Amino acid sequence: MRACVNGRTAVGYPLISMKQDVQLYDTLERRVKPIRPLDGKTVRFYCCGPTVYGPAHIGNFRTFVSQDILRRVLELGGQPTRHVRNITDVDDKTIRQSQAEGRTLKEFTDAWLELFRRDCGELNLLPPHIEPSAVEHIPGQVDLIQKLMDRKHAYRADDGSVYFSIDSFPEYGRLSRVKERELSTNKPAAAGQAIQADEYERESLADFALWKARKAEDGPNFWRSPWSEGRPGWHLECSCMSMRYLGESFDLHGGGVDLIFPHHENEIAQSEAATGKPFASHWFHTTHLLVEGRKMSKSEGNLFTLEELKAKGFSAMEVRYVLLAGKYSQPLNFTIDSLSAARQALQKIARSADALAGASGCAEPAYDEVARDAQSLPVANPFNPAWEALRDDLNTSEALGQTFLALKETDSAIREGRLAKTQASEAWLGLQRVLHALGLVLPKESEITAPPEIRELAAKRWEAKKNKDWKAADTYRDQLASAGWVMQDGKDSYKLAPDRKNP
Ligand code: AMP
Ligand code: ZN
Repeated sequence: MRACVNGRTAVGYPLISMKQDVQLYDTLERRVKPIRPLDGKTVRFYCCGPTVYGPAHIGNFRTFVSQDILRRVLELGGQPTRHVRNITDVDDKTIRQSQAEGRTLKEFTDAWLELFRRDCGELNLLPPHIEPSAVEHIPGQVDLIQKLMDRKHAYRADDGSVYFSIDSFPEYGRLSRVKERELSTNKPAAAGQAIQADEYERESLADFALWKARKAEDGPNFWRSPWSEGRPGWHLECSCMSMRYLGESFDLHGGGVDLIFPHHENEIAQSEAATGKPFASHWFHTTHLLVEGRKMSKSEGNLFTLEELKAKGFSAMEVRYVLLAGKYSQPLNFTIDSLSAARQALQKIARSADALAGASGCAEPAYDEVARDAQSLPVANPFNPAWEALRDDLNTSEALGQTFLALKETDSAIREGRLAKTQASEAWLGLQRVLHALGLVLPKESEITAPPEIRELAAKRWEAKKNKDWKAADTYRDQLASAGWVMQDGKDSYKLAPDRKNP
């Protein structure tokens, strides 16, 4: 079968270039604005990666999936990207846990990193172009602290730790508006008061650690620096690695909403104070995933990993579908029922996609082929509303709704014999662009199971047939056909299959 991708136009449709900027909400400016690469060529973006001290949970993956979709929407719209996502393999948590287990930090974090990468592969996340490790960038972090010391934005405490002085950076708090929040809660700003922990209370405004002097509980995990033996504070690694791989000013920075303060606030302060240049132009934050309406946490016992959901019989693709079914900026409530609904939704899309493939005679195009060929799709494509929803602030829920509407249209056009082959090929490419943007891989025909009501109808027809009640058997067969299913009768049993001619 041909891949059917070559940018031809359907007769009668004008070929209008769809290339416009992707729009995305920016946490800093608090408005939806276009993503425009500073260098006019490549969107350079940095995402805070996993802390590898345990398995990533599905909340983490909500954030990583939304970043993956952003990248796919940019690339499939013809916009090259450079995607950097770090690995946090040295911080309070990794050191504490590796010590508790009596393993070296490297042994410990490597094992969790391997699992993380496996989960990412199964969830169909595009590997970042660069995936730097914090441990491997300690010399770069020391250099950055030195710059901050030279410019009087940092000071050494008596124990050899180094702190960033937030009073030295008047713009501190721009991203999270932490100063306004502090005023509104009548708490005086506590600048000059220093905080050591990597993660600290939302409302505390204080100098934060750039370098932490070695403590007994760190064991062998310390490095040399001009100030003391110790290790960098967590916030510093992202400033160091983002600027190293993307330049001092770059296009976009992302993470979950919990990172707005203090992590991203501190990143801006460290980076801009060191370089005197603007840091990231666009801030992209993903709202947290809730489970059964509650915050996910180990103590609540509602923290799911991909492995646990697979053990319950769900596929990684069903998990991905649930994670992207809600727009990234809206709260999303995960339930086990939503996974069953995802299975039905994916199977419904697969049945209609199969029919469209049949009508067009096209094979599934690869990601790069879609990125190349979909640029010349005419605007009248039935899947354009879905595509446009993605380009308008990554509205994945709207895109899915529009996809189902378009599939309904192509289903009936095929059934009624009014979808010409050229139109079918274009619709097919339009659908593929949306599916690749969402990163959805559809179940194959052999993996498609009929929904319960269809299985019940089939059982009734089989029973009627066995009882030689031909009239009832025919009625059930017709009902199955109008729902898009056929029964293939054997001697002693039957199979249910999606009806390719009648989706
Ligand atoms: P961590 O491994 O804790 O450093 O987190 C990795 C990413 O997952 C960060 O961008 C976090 O902001 C994000 N994250 C953590 N919990 C959730 C959640 N419940 N929902 C969405 N994103 C989350
Ligand atoms: Zn970070």
